[in-house]
Amino acid sequence: MKKLRIAYARVAQETNAFSPVHTELADFHRTHWLEADALHRATDRFGYEARGFIRNAELSGFRRAVRQHGAGRVEAIPLFSAWAIPGGPLSRACFDALRDRLVADLRAAGPLDGVMLSLHGAMGAEDTVDPDGDLLRAVREAVGPDVKIAVSLDLHAQITEQTEAYADVISAYRTNPHRDHVSTGFRAGKMLIDALLGRTRPTVAWRTLPMVMGGGLTLDFLQPMRGVFRMMRRFDKLPGVLDSSLFMCHIWNDHPNLGWSVHVVTDGDQALADRLADDLAEAAWGVRHHGLPTPPSASEAIAKVRAATGRRRIGTACVCDVSDVVGAGAPGENPRLIQALLDEASDLLSFAPIRDAEVVEALWDRPIDSLVSTDVGGKLQPELNAPLHVSGRLARKVTLEGFDRVVLLDLGHVQLAVTEGAPLVMKPAFYRALGLNPWKADICVVKSLFPFRLYFLAENRLTIYAKTEGVTDFDLVRRFEMAHPVFPMAELDDWRPVDRIRRHVA
Ligand SMILES: [Zn+2]
Repeated sequence: MKKLRIAYARVAQETNAFSPVHTELADFHRTHWLEADALHRATDRFGYEARGFIRNAELSGFRRAVRQHGAGRVEAIPLFSAWAIPGGPLSRACFDALRDRLVADLRAAGPLDGVMLSLHGAMGAEDTVDPDGDLLRAVREAVGPDVKIAVSLDLHAQITEQTEAYADVISAYRTNPHRDHVSTGFRAGKMLIDALLGRTRPTVAWRTLPMVMGGGLTLDFLQPMRGVFRMMRRFDKLPGVLDSSLFMCHIWNDHPNLGWSVHVVTDGDQALADRLADDLAEAAWGVRHHGLPTPPSASEAIAKVRAATGRRRIGTACVCDVSDVVGAGAPGENPRLIQALLDEASDLLSFAPIRDAEVVEALWDRPIDSLVSTDVGGKLQPELNAPLHVSGRLARKVTLEGFDRVVLLDLGHVQLAVTEGAPLVMKPAFYRALGLNPWKADICVVKSLFPFRLYFLAENRLTIYAKTEGVTDFDLVRRFEMAHPVFPMAELDDWRPVDRIRRHVA
């Protein structure tokens, strides 16, 4: 019997529309880039899919679905996998290159029955509001109407009419912080394989919700979202249900229809898909009034750490500046928290990163123990960040995967890691690589919103989200030009009127 041929690829990045630093092809190559056979090996049973980040991700999950549900009947054809850390919008050239590469690889792959794509869904690019949708349209045009397309997405994806029009099945993460990359790729892959083998007829319903909510409220295992995620697990058990997804959007995406959405897939039952999509949308809409407490200022955060004497004795405090979260696309050169640590926390030992490629370049050839007096930060977004003047000792120089060159400045009670690349600091290993012991620090500054909580589980005794001012402030969402009213910027009782307009249904 002739085997079904499914090509698979990844193009993924989460964009912060307020970051002035464009994401380029070099950023993808730096973070994660695999082609053909290397991708096939990396997603195999004993492969390592995204080195330095996660052992197995969506495409490993897809390969597992092929082994378990398409053994002997499906041939998986690796194209390429490109993944960049969060940052500013892709430059036009970068987006065009990725799209053209994907189209060229699809054409070169020969006749296909299916395509499995791992996308993020909140990617931004110059000159378009919907690059993920544009990518899907290009794929659809390349393979034609008869080939089935499955897409795995982050639950922060912005679902658009293009996504819905050009993808046959969609599956999103069900955990936040995300820890189910593999099972998401598996679900998307299984739906694709079952549909191609004629076992099921995926039938889709989706709804959009004119609402946004701060990230701190969207954890799957905590209120208010726990009940909504539980509802999807109940759906899974219903006969005829193939999958359901909830998308809580990325609030620094500048799509004019920014907001949440839901997507339900059943086996040939449109009425069931519609009913469950309505129920899921209503449940998600029900949590919109939960508000986040205002985060403390840098000074207030320092006071909280100082007061937690007992906890500091048996570990460290992780402080995240919610205004400068590199994991949410900030450039990572905001010096405000470091300034506060220098000025107000001389009784506390703090480790902190900042991005400044110019400083790294200037210090790289200087001998260790040189005395240093320099301005750091404020180079990429000078209108937002004033440089901070620091004086100290050049303590260490290392090259770290993902960060490029890093110099450690010993400023006394602050150990400042100046990075050449974006400082996506979320693991204690970052500080250890610089010869610093996180157990000894009173404060470890982190640059991710949630993942650090898993990585720092052993060392962290106190998590503090502080606020300064920067491109990952929640209030920035109010500056977007939205096509229709969105909660909480507008007081809305019903999601349906805006949903119908957005989906163009009568
Ligand atoms: Zn996400």
